[in-house]
Amino acid sequence: YEAKGTGKPFHRFTTELDQHSTEQARLGAELRAALDADQFQLVYQPIVSLPTGSLASVEALVRWVHPERGWVSPAEFVPVAEQNGLIVELGAWILRTACTQAADWRARLGTRAPARVNVNVSARQLAEPGFADVVSAALADSGLPPSCLVVEVTETAVFEGGRALETLHELHALGVLVALDDFGTGHSSLGLLQTVPVDVLKVDKSFVDNITMAGRHAVIATALINVSTGLGLTAVAEGVETAEQAAELHRLGYRLAQGYHFGKPVAEPDFGTAEVTAVV
Ligand code: C2E
Ligand code: MG
Ligand code: MG
Ligand code: MG
Repeated sequence: YEAKGTGKPFHRFTTELDQHSTEQARLGAELRAALDADQFQLVYQPIVSLPTGSLASVEALVRWVHPERGWVSPAEFVPVAEQNGLIVELGAWILRTACTQAADWRARLGTRAPARVNVNVSARQLAEPGFADVVSAALADSGLPPSCLVVEVTETAVFEGGRALETLHELHALGVLVALDDFGTGHSSLGLLQTVPVDVLKVDKSFVDNITMAGRHAVIATALINVSTGLGLTAVAEGVETAEQAAELHRLGYRLAQGYHFGKPVAEPDFGTAEVTAVV
């Protein structure tokens, strides 16, 4: 390549690109081996009722427990697994594991168990023709009732995936709930709500962050709770880190919230007491 005007070659740039794709390929191969070696684990973060403080659900979040690097964040490896297609197999494992765990809590803890489990699903999974069958099998094998499962998808995944909308209708037909994750940060936002079968709006952390200061974020958070309520949807505020944010969200009409203020994601949540030990 020639840099336009300067006549300087782009050697440095291409070398970095090559290094990047080599690194991606290496990581992709490592992920395959990690799945075979059983190195993935789920952690669970509480979603709580703001009026009562009770546990409404838990969100399952995947971790890679790397033999040398320790806990690896999904932000690092989920995009790579999406790229090389491994997310389909990893995602099926995540669904089976989360449904089995949730069914086990229900059997052991009864009413102390979270009523639902939320599972993140990526664009690639949503576009896969057999995805609803994967969900259906995870429910049947675990014995978890379909209404206890919430599938979290992003606006972008729904927007870009050709088959995504059809899949969401199939999930709804099973009785599974659908949540739009990181709501408000994608491409289409409000327009999607007219066509997509959705039950829950997860209002992105970016709108929660400065909510206690009168300004844009508070205005948008207010608009989003009004849209949710008006459409008969459930809103969940994400990334709540302080008691002040929780109080303000409650005042605005939010009934459900999630964030470090209520609990970090942990491998074994203790539903008997309020205290849980953070692992990440
Ligand atoms: P997400 O689904 O929006 O998950 C919320 C993320 O925010 C989690 O990060 C969680 O640990 C973090 N978080 C929760 N409360 C707070 C808070 O109060 N403050 C801050 N700073 N962060 C908070 P995590 O676990 O690293 O996951 C990042 C993203 O990776 C997820 O965003 C989701 O898009 C993706 N992901 C995680 N697990 C899975 C999975 O099992 N499957 C798929 N396809 N994607 C996953
Ligand atoms: Mg999520
Ligand atoms: Mg989210
Ligand atoms: Mg988010």
